[in-house]
Amino acid sequence: MVAQIIDGKALAAKLKDDMQVEVAALTTSHGRAPGLAVILVGDDPASHVYVKNKKVACEKVGIASFSYELPADTSKEHLLGLIAELNADPKVDGILVQLPLPAHINADKVLNAIDADKDVDGFHPFNVGCLAVRQPALRSCTPYGCIKLIETTGIKWYGKEAVVVGASNIVGRPMALELLLAGATVTVCHRFTENLQSHIERADIVIAAAGKQGLIKGEWIKEGAIVIDVGIHRLEDGSLTGDVDFDTASKRAGWITPVPGGVGPMTITMLLANTITAFKQHVGV
Ligand code: NAD
Repeated sequence: MVAQIIDGKALAAKLKDDMQVEVAALTTSHGRAPGLAVILVGDDPASHVYVKNKKVACEKVGIASFSYELPADTSKEHLLGLIAELNADPKVDGILVQLPLPAHINADKVLNAIDADKDVDGFHPFNVGCLAVRQPALRSCTPYGCIKLIETTGIKWYGKEAVVVGASNIVGRPMALELLLAGATVTVCHRFTENLQSHIERADIVIAAAGKQGLIKGEWIKEGAIVIDVGIHRLEDGSLTGDVDFDTASKRAGWITPVPGGVGPMTITMLLANTITAFKQHVGV
């Protein structure tokens, strides 16, 4: 078997084209564009690249982006003050704090300070709770993007075994809630899971989000399974790879996402989708 590639870049481009049309109409009818505030603290090079990509994506669809680049020694109080201002700013529909934050700032405190209805990353406990009780509001971008990617396969969710590898607040946990909402039977594996292979072997859907290069071996993949690789690792030659051994896995899977060009473009796209959703809530449509 040779897996079909789930093309995240193409899906993201199509969704952004649709958003561009919607945002133009919303901007005309409400006299302002949806607004996204992006806060970056410190000088982590990867974070600078992510923030730049987010700004470019906003421009593409017509969302106004407001940048706040703060030095690495910014105090927690200063950051919380800025978030309070942005919470009160009617031009701002979404607030994003780029992670990781410098070690002296407690990220949970900062993320929890964002108004839940401006939490376009979907990290606030209120929004994660909404997902848990089957009332999705602003949904965590990466897991929501993974669901959109899986849907392109035409999957029938009921009766499917989904295995999520990774249990972080930003990927693994909300991913499990998304899969449960979709109707799959869900197992979550993490660093204390024994015999990871045995879980992967019975999975119809594998979501690899451990942040460990090549952790998931191709031979473990069930024939015909859908494999979504969230992991991102930069190799010495500058190229990117994921948590799944793509070459061997793509010989057994039915569908697989590449790295790059799979989950990554969808994460940014769902951020834009959330910003539009937040805008509509704020203007009452
Ligand atoms: P994290 O380090 O916060 O969490 C990793 C999780 O994996 C933890 O729950 C841990 O228990 C689990 N884990 C670690 N080793 C394991 C093992 N051997 N077996 C099973 N579980 C194991 O990482 P994160 O922030 O969730 O990110 C995970 C990966 O996804 C990283 O490579 C990150 O760069 C990538 N990522 C990609 C996107 C995207 O848009 N493509 C978005 C977010 C994160």
